[in-house]
Amino acid sequence: MTAKLIYDFDEHCEGGRAVLGGKGLGLAEMTALHLPVPRGFTITTEACRHHLANPGSLPAELLTEIEAHLLHLEETTGQGFGDPTNPLLVSVRSGGPVSMPGMMETILNLGMNDAVIAQADPSAVHFLLDDYRRLIQMYGDVVAGIDGALFAEAFDAFEAIEEGAPGHDDLSALVDTFKDVYKTATGSDFPQDPHEQLFTAVAAVFDSWNAPRAQVYRAQAGIPEDAGTAANVVQMVFGNRDSMSATGVCFSRDPATGQPGLYGEFLPEAQGEDIVAGTRTPLPVIEMKKILPEAHAQLVAAVAALEHHYRDVQDVEFTVESGHFYLLQTRGAKRTATAALRFAVDMESEGLLTRNEAVQRIDSAQLEQLLHPTIDPKANLVVVATGLSASPGAACGVAIFDADTAAARAADGEDIVLVRPETTADDIHGLLPAQGILTARGGMTSHAAVVARGLGKPCVAGCAALDIDLDARIAKIGDAVLREGDPVTINGSTGEVILGLAPLVEPEPDANLATILEWADGVRRMKVYANADTPLDADRSRKHGAEGIGLCRTEHMFMAQDRLPIVREMILALTMEERMAALAQLLPMQQSDFEGIFEAMVGLPVTIRLLDPPLHEFLPDPSEVEDVKIRERIESLREANPMLGTRGCRLGIERPEIYEMQIKAIVRAALAVEKRTGVLPIVEIMHPLVAFGSELERLVELTARTVAEEGGMEYKVGTMIELPRAALRAGELAEHAEFFSFGTNDLTQTTLGVSRDDAQGRFLTFYLQHGLLETDPFQTIDVEGVGELVRTAVKRGRATRPSIEIGICGEHGGDPASIAFCESIGLDYVSCSPFRVPVARLAAAQAVLSAGVAYVPAGG
Ligand code: PEP
Ligand code: MG
Repeated sequence: MTAKLIYDFDEHCEGGRAVLGGKGLGLAEMTALHLPVPRGFTITTEACRHHLANPGSLPAELLTEIEAHLLHLEETTGQGFGDPTNPLLVSVRSGGPVSMPGMMETILNLGMNDAVIAQADPSAVHFLLDDYRRLIQMYGDVVAGIDGALFAEAFDAFEAIEEGAPGHDDLSALVDTFKDVYKTATGSDFPQDPHEQLFTAVAAVFDSWNAPRAQVYRAQAGIPEDAGTAANVVQMVFGNRDSMSATGVCFSRDPATGQPGLYGEFLPEAQGEDIVAGTRTPLPVIEMKKILPEAHAQLVAAVAALEHHYRDVQDVEFTVESGHFYLLQTRGAKRTATAALRFAVDMESEGLLTRNEAVQRIDSAQLEQLLHPTIDPKANLVVVATGLSASPGAACGVAIFDADTAAARAADGEDIVLVRPETTADDIHGLLPAQGILTARGGMTSHAAVVARGLGKPCVAGCAALDIDLDARIAKIGDAVLREGDPVTINGSTGEVILGLAPLVEPEPDANLATILEWADGVRRMKVYANADTPLDADRSRKHGAEGIGLCRTEHMFMAQDRLPIVREMILALTMEERMAALAQLLPMQQSDFEGIFEAMVGLPVTIRLLDPPLHEFLPDPSEVEDVKIRERIESLREANPMLGTRGCRLGIERPEIYEMQIKAIVRAALAVEKRTGVLPIVEIMHPLVAFGSELERLVELTARTVAEEGGMEYKVGTMIELPRAALRAGELAEHAEFFSFGTNDLTQTTLGVSRDDAQGRFLTFYLQHGLLETDPFQTIDVEGVGELVRTAVKRGRATRPSIEIGICGEHGGDPASIAFCESIGLDYVSCSPFRVPVARLAAAQAVLSAGVAYVPAGG
């Protein structure tokens, strides 16, 4: 370990967020801004990493350093840690470099013990007992690993007696009961030594880095496993002290809609965990104005100062103790895509951000959630209840009442809606695969609401009409009944709960999205094309701002029900005559497909890739074919490795009449559209899976001859680069090709020697879970391997033909990190699925602005 493992909040730390964690950095920055923050110190992530590598009790050198900082804390607060007459109480709060809301542990009220109660001023006894029982419960759970239900049962019994009018005698009895629970479970008395409490609490908070739910969260959020958490030791301030006390959570603007103005909730006479737990329903923060007007004014001023300092929307936790206001935490607010866009556009007009900064503020991957369908407003809906609109969008699926079942049924391919009384961090494995989340309890800042917004999933929270019986696996909603497995729809934008699967429609355009994309278009260098195979997709792409079609896969057209029998005849034909007859039937069909696409894309380039068929995809299972001859023919075409067999241009070379038919259909369609519209479509003909220059030479010649036979027209011809050999021999291929398009799906498979369909969900998932790979190479380009081939091909291709147009059309073309790579090596365009076109437009601009540095929310 290096020398310094602890920083006071007012001490400068060179390492910033990586060393102090987000919470520690926020506390230090708020202290520096002279905002009202309790005093304390941060034990670094390095100390955590050391502890995790050497489990057990904390090392002596760290304990000595903690003692020294405690002493300083005692001096500045004028209280004594372990002094029963003037006790200093502290919390230990986790906080890693990247925010992981609710995934790790926090323990409050450390330093409380029997002696403090014994010496307490009678007016303070009740509230100190409340602190004590909370400490035993939290410490018992986090440090001693006692089943939380044991405390919950005792607490419920106590509440039943109290009926809302607690007296301290009974609270004292509750504390005794909690101590008994502790002793029965652990065999030891609850520790009375504040130092022992603190040291074990720090170790347990460090250990909570490795809680299973935290590991699951990190895996999906791409947070490095070895970052570790800091532990913040913070002087306690008490939101549960008296009627002038409260605790709350507040955003500087609405994180769901983006609307300006404070947005938050608070609970009078409570401690922080009461809000997150969702067990008591909090009040809107505006109510504080009446009850605690001075604290409210301080909250307004503090939040404004923080937003101005970070130039980003903040999410703060605060406590009011006997009228005094304190900030406990600030971080960049988790936000929906709608809110993120509004924040950026509003902050630009407020002069807080420049246009380019506003463009960089948007998480491009998150935009996709805005482009997905919403509930058809014309639909006749059976709305059975309305809860809080906690995270926007519509979700349909079968209702599932627990996270384990949700995870299992989603893994089987079902769309599910997780329905819970409330969620906790332990439900994360059920939240991740859910289409949407519905809870009966909890507010806008409950666990379900916060997690759903972060994941971009629709959520309806606090739906009080929902009466869930977890044992019977049934939920009553007024007179209606929702059984597990029944279809249900939630509308996270309105809070509505609908029985059955509601019809969905394309979403309304978002004006802020249009503004941000317009700014992005002014910045980006690469063009954005779409992968579209149908006129409908072409139309959608164009609406989303695609500047052309970078990949039209023609085999999809062959799969249509009315075509498949003809395609089969064509493949299985034993004579040339038979094959030509089938092709003659396909030609007009293909021509009309192309006409539709050309018409949708008038004035923009359309790249049509000739047939790339793994043949088996078109053929029936031979065991289901009665005709012996046909069965034998199918058997004779069987390949051991169809993805590496007679596919791509290989079939077109062996049987040129197939590509001739396709080229004829293209030319005829283009000329027909020119006749109708007066504009000749911009046609690019692309050959798949080329490995050898000789293949491409032959294909280019076949293309030219066929186009000429049809009367001739202007077109470009090019090749996909999908094989390592093609990438290495790009110099030779560029002699024949006017453009290259990287098919990084196949290039990844062939470079890694990994079949995508056999890897995902199997060994590749294992590799990702066990840290052998950081990202899925089929989602984000493998820069060191596949990327090196791409770089090489670009260099060699341009050396031969400087004007060659080069783009990418594999799935990576819609992935922001891969788009940043494409920008860095100077590609001319990226092509992606229609829904991702706006994502790609923004990501391409961000790549220019930050040369590939991803945006991290300020204070987040
Ligand atoms: C590719 O291989 O990246 C590609 C775009 O082609 P397909 O996915 O159709 O094989
Ligand atoms: Mg391919």
